[in-house]
Amino acid sequence: MGNRDVADLLENIANLLEIRGENPYRVRAYREAGRHIANMAEDINKVAEAGRLQDIPGVGESIANKIREFLTTGRLAYYEDLKRQVAPGVSQLLEVPGLGPRKAQEINRALGITSIAELEKAAREHKLSKLPGIREKTEQKILREIERLQQRTRRILLGVALPAAEEVVNLLKVHPQVQRIDPAGSIRRMKETIGDIDVLVASTKPVEVMDALCSLRIVKEVLAKGTTKSSILTRANLQIDVRVIHPDEYGSALQYFTGSKDHNIALRDIAIRKGLKLNEYGIFDVKTGRRLGGETEEQVYHILGLRWMPPELRENRGEIEAAAKGKLPKLIEIGDIRGDLHVHTDWSDGTDSLDDMVEAALERGYEYVAITDHSIGLGVARGLSVERIREQRRIVDQLNRKYAPFMILHGIEVNIRGDGTLDYDDEVLAEFDIVTASIHSGFGQPREKITARIIRAMQNPNVDAFNHPRGRLIGKREGYAVDLEAVIREGAKRGVAIEINSQPDRMDLDDVWARRAKELGATLVIDTDSHSKGQLDFIRYGVAVARRGWLERSDVLNALSLKDLLKRLHPARMAA
Ligand SMILES: [Zn+2]
Ligand SMILES: [Zn+2]
Repeated sequence: MGNRDVADLLENIANLLEIRGENPYRVRAYREAGRHIANMAEDINKVAEAGRLQDIPGVGESIANKIREFLTTGRLAYYEDLKRQVAPGVSQLLEVPGLGPRKAQEINRALGITSIAELEKAAREHKLSKLPGIREKTEQKILREIERLQQRTRRILLGVALPAAEEVVNLLKVHPQVQRIDPAGSIRRMKETIGDIDVLVASTKPVEVMDALCSLRIVKEVLAKGTTKSSILTRANLQIDVRVIHPDEYGSALQYFTGSKDHNIALRDIAIRKGLKLNEYGIFDVKTGRRLGGETEEQVYHILGLRWMPPELRENRGEIEAAAKGKLPKLIEIGDIRGDLHVHTDWSDGTDSLDDMVEAALERGYEYVAITDHSIGLGVARGLSVERIREQRRIVDQLNRKYAPFMILHGIEVNIRGDGTLDYDDEVLAEFDIVTASIHSGFGQPREKITARIIRAMQNPNVDAFNHPRGRLIGKREGYAVDLEAVIREGAKRGVAIEINSQPDRMDLDDVWARRAKELGATLVIDTDSHSKGQLDFIRYGVAVARRGWLERSDVLNALSLKDLLKRLHPARMAA
C-alpha cells in the first residue's frame, strides 16, 4: 500500500459521502487529505509509523484511524460498508472524470444507468441533456471523457508513443530546474505496445516543472495538474503523465516506474531475503531503517548484489539470474547495424526514388543498403517484370560506381506463391545480390500447408532471408497459422536469415520468438522494410525487439561488415 492507494481510497470515500448527501465539510476533509497524500514525497507508511498522520492537512483522528487500518490490513471496513449502501452502478460512473458524484447519482436514478457503455449510449442519444441540470455542453464533455477513458485502456504502438514521450522530454530537458528526465514504464522497456505514457523528472522545484509542462506548445489540454504529478493531452490526442521526483530518490523511482511488474516483484523478493526494503523512495535496511541508496538505478541494483541491466531485459525472463552471475548478454545496439537489407523505392510501391533511398542510407552512416522492390506477382505493389529488373540493375551498377565504397545490393522481395514456388525462375533469382522472400497472400491456409509452403521457398538456394515471418499487423491482423519453430529450424539449417521487421505495426518476429530463433541457432536480420526515406529510422524499433530478445551483434546478419556480408551471401562469387 502506497501513497497512491491511500489517496484513491480517500477520494472514493469523499465521492460516496457526497452521494449520500453528508456534511460537505467532512466530504472536503477526505478530498483534501487525499490530495495531500497523493502529492506527498514521503512514504505514507513512514508517516504512519512515526505517528505523524494528523500533521497532514485534512487528516483528523477519524481519518488517521482509517488510514492506519487500511495500511495494516489492506482494507477498510467503513469503506466496504459505504459502498454497499450506495447504489453499485454509481461507483462505475464515477470513473468518468468530471462526472461528479451528484450528477452520477442523478443519471443513475433517472435513467437506471449503471455502466459506462450505457452512459455513452445515453449521451449519444441526447438523453442526458434532457435531465434537469445537465446541459448539452456537459453531455458533449461526458462523451469526450468516455472516449479518453477508452483510449487510456487501449494500447498504443511503440512507434507512436515513443516519439510523443521524446518530444516532451526534449522540450522539458532544457528547463533550468530539470536535472534529469526520462520516459519510464513500458516505453523505456521498448515494448511493442504501450499502455500509459509515463515520464519522470528529477528536480527540487516540482511546481515550476509542472508549470512549464502545462504551458508547452504541444499541450492541447491539461487533464490534471498537481504539485508533483500532472497529465496532459497532446495535440495528437495522446495522454502523457509526468511525475517529478526529488533527485535523491530519482534512481529508485526510475527503477520502480520502469518495471516490469514481474521484474520488480522478483527484485523485492531478493531485497527481503537480504533484510532490505525496496520501494520507489529508495533501498533501506529493515532493521535500522537506514536508507542505503536510491539516487541512481545502478546503486539500487548494486546494493541487491546485481549488475545494472538494460530496461529491455526487465521482464523477469532470466535477466535477474544472469545479472547475479555476471552473465548478462552484451545486447546489440543501433550503432552495430551496418546497413538495411529490405528497402523499397518508387520502382514498386515505395514513394521515394532509388537515388533518394541510397542517399538516405548514406546519411545514416551505413556501409550498404539492399534495394528490394516487390516481384511481379504482387500486382497491387507494381511488382517488377524481368525487363524492369534488368533495367534497375543497370542503374544500381551506375550508382555503385558513384557511391563506392558504399554498396547498393541489388535485391528483391520475392513473393512466395501459394504452392511455395517463387515468382521468378532460378536463373533470374541468381542474378540478384540478395533475395528476400515473403508471403503476401493466401494467409488463410491451414498450418501444415502454409508451413510447408514457406519451407519449400526457403529450400531454394537463392533465398537469403525470410521477411515478416508471421504476417501479423498489430491490432489489425493476426499472423498466419505458421509453425514458426519449424520455419526457424529450417532457416538455421540452410543459412536463411529470419527477419525482425521494424515497421511499428509489424515488429515481426517479436521479442520472444527472436530469442527462440537465437537459441535454435538461426541468424536474424533487422530490416525497416522502408517505403520512404524517413522510415529508415524505424530501425530503432527492430533493434528494440532484438534487445528484448537478448540478441547480440553476432546474431544479426546486417551487423556484419560489407566484406563479411558478401562472403556470407556469395561465398563462391567472393572466392572467384
Ligand atoms: Zn513484404
Ligand atoms: Zn517489403
